[in-house]
Amino acid sequence: MVDHPDQRRASYDLHLHTCWSYDATATAEELFAAASAGGVRRIAITDHHVIDGLKEAHEVAARYPEVSFIPGAELTVHCSIGAVDMVCLGLTQSAIEALAPLWEAYHEWQREFGATLCAGVRALGLDYTDAHRQELLESYRPVRTLDVQGLTHVGNRVQRAWFIERGFIESEEDYVPLLRAAAERVPRPPYPAADFVLPRVRRQGVLTVIAHPTGYFLRDDRERMDLLRRELSFDGVECAHGRKVSPELTPVYHTWCKERGLISTGGSDLHRPDDVEQDIGRHLGPEQWWPEIEKRLPEGAISNGEVGPIDSEHTAENRAR
Ligand SMILES: [Zn+2]
Repeated sequence: MVDHPDQRRASYDLHLHTCWSYDATATAEELFAAASAGGVRRIAITDHHVIDGLKEAHEVAARYPEVSFIPGAELTVHCSIGAVDMVCLGLTQSAIEALAPLWEAYHEWQREFGATLCAGVRALGLDYTDAHRQELLESYRPVRTLDVQGLTHVGNRVQRAWFIERGFIESEEDYVPLLRAAAERVPRPPYPAADFVLPRVRRQGVLTVIAHPTGYFLRDDRERMDLLRRELSFDGVECAHGRKVSPELTPVYHTWCKERGLISTGGSDLHRPDDVEQDIGRHLGPEQWWPEIEKRLPEGAISNGEVGPIDSEHTAENRAR
């Protein structure tokens, strides 16, 4: 492997998806195995909109005591600039229980979004039924995830390929315009509102981090950055991201965070098993960011404690806390 600074692995990866995300296929087992093999010592699982996979993840984590585990979720919220992805870190069991209305709202949103998207495409005269949607979901999502979440929306990669196959669109470039036209026919529900979601999450001590912010920040427009900080009151910024934050922006965001007492985090945002094996931990977040993140996480949010030889009794005790 080429030893390029961009390609080294960080000691932590705080943005990872499993098959419990509507658009991902990696399993928790694959994430932990890859982290262990690659020397990534702390990982967060941050599925889109759900905590449904965290029980499974905790079970897997118990078999990888060398990898600390931070349960999280990536919650997309609706605010003044539209949809914004928030990586939420440190979802303890008590936080998960207290946030039950949130999980219900997101489950509902996923099903409604899927159904209205389908209906919008049908309104354009194209044959996209809920049965088609179910078939597409079943083609890549494990049954256990659909049992819990119902018929969600379909990941873009799969849906786009099917639209091309069915002749709805000729090429990938026509995909977004088609979705826009469909939304004009049948409006899709907005994501749950930021002021419904984020204060509740923060009240549980969970860290809220604005994900891959380059688009939201209009690259590095200070006015926009401060506006979003006031509106969303996030605790931190994903200053390092495998693909969506370019290397020259990482220090710019980090400096801005330091000036405002915000934490800086980093993650790869991987979704698929092949990518996980190759790229887990690949982002530019340095080791020095970790102690600050660790300090700000709610108590009991890290399973497996810190690295090093941990006996099973100690691990069990940590989990029980
Ligand atoms: Zn993500």
